[in-house]
Amino acid sequence: MYCVDSHGSDIDHFWPKATYPDRAFVWSNMLLCCTECGRFKGNRFPLSNAGQPMLVDPSAEDPWEHLDFDPDTGNLTARYLANCGAPSPKGEHTVKTLKLDRREGMAAGYRRTYLRMEACVRKALTEDAIELQKLAQDLQRADDHGLLGWCLGPVGARLEPFAELRRRAPDAWDAWTASVQ
Ligand SMILES: [Zn+2]
Repeated sequence: MYCVDSHGSDIDHFWPKATYPDRAFVWSNMLLCCTECGRFKGNRFPLSNAGQPMLVDPSAEDPWEHLDFDPDTGNLTARYLANCGAPSPKGEHTVKTLKLDRREGMAAGYRRTYLRMEACVRKALTEDAIELQKLAQDLQRADDHGLLGWCLGPVGARLEPFAELRRRAPDAWDAWTASVQ
């Protein structure tokens, strides 16, 4: 949870049990997270004025609605919402609380995953007829960070080689985009 770095080792209470003891034994409040995320989050749990959590709950919502990925650095940042003309407030709170824009090890892992996924697409694009089913499997296998949703999203889809894939196989692209959302 939170950093999606596949090293879940701790149980995190989304609503911190120190502040909300009545939620301590609620299954849906228990998320698997890594030691670092657990340490950064601690009892930090920002709420909106209406009392809604301002951290992304990855078990209930798509993190890419609030977060963006920087393929050059591997960092996560708050997603810019064009319709609001501002970054997602939930994204901002999540990045700040979990320090998702300043974790070297995590960013390096994201970079490696992204490069692996890029390589899968580049390889598939060298074929005259793209084997889409095989590519989908390869991408899934390479995706240790749940990045596919970002790659197929508004920002990732503009970058090569994903943009070329979209041009070459528009029907498959639309089907994939629908299936990850
Ligand atoms: Zn983590």
